[in-house]
Amino acid sequence: MKFNQLQLNSHLLSNLAALGYQQASEIQQQAIPLALAGHDLMACAQTGTGKTAAFCLPILQNISQQEGAKHIQALIITPTRELAQQVHQSLESYAKGSGLNCALVYGGVSIDKQQLALKQPCHIVVATPGRMLDHLKRGSCDLKHLQYLVLDEADRMLDLGFKDELSALLKHLPQRRQTMLFSATLDASIYRFAKPWLNQAKQLEV
Ligand code: AMP
Repeated sequence: MKFNQLQLNSHLLSNLAALGYQQASEIQQQAIPLALAGHDLMACAQTGTGKTAAFCLPILQNISQQEGAKHIQALIITPTRELAQQVHQSLESYAKGSGLNCALVYGGVSIDKQQLALKQPCHIVVATPGRMLDHLKRGSCDLKHLQYLVLDEADRMLDLGFKDELSALLKHLPQRRQTMLFSATLDASIYRFAKPWLNQAKQLEV
């Protein structure tokens, strides 16, 4: 299936064409229409399946319709700094020319510079859980206008022991939002973890 069959706007389509993407991958074909329609998702997808674009493109499309609003509307949580960097890079390539600002927040580096960056108008944040929580506790940003949340590689976040930090983070999020959870495996522990985050989620598997 081609991307132009997925109801994406012409700006996103031209960025995808410039990146050389021709066909939407299986997870993209399944996830994009559901995400654009506003559903929560619980998706089983490995790295390399194109899962990053599957959650970034619907967010970019829906945010760009309300471009005047310069507050954090989407948060993407990843287990590691490396993945946060990769997701941020992909996001910027899909968002090119849209005027949307994407911040990157992870631990192990000075928090002060990130605080300054978060003071700039910013629509989307890609973050690791612990550092995001630090920023929320310090008041360097707030998520009261958040509309879209992604938990990427949720199984890995649990393996790395982020459960408590994620539960604390959940308390800072508005209840009315769209949440997309991606995981390489869906087992009982993921279902248990996912319950308080998701609302009538559609389940996908590739
Ligand atoms: P991911 O599974 O999101 O880590 O993506 C794996 C790689 O596939 C990344 O380098 C993406 O840039 C690339 N990619 C994602 N979707 C497509 C697509 N539809 N066509 C070609 N490459 C893609």
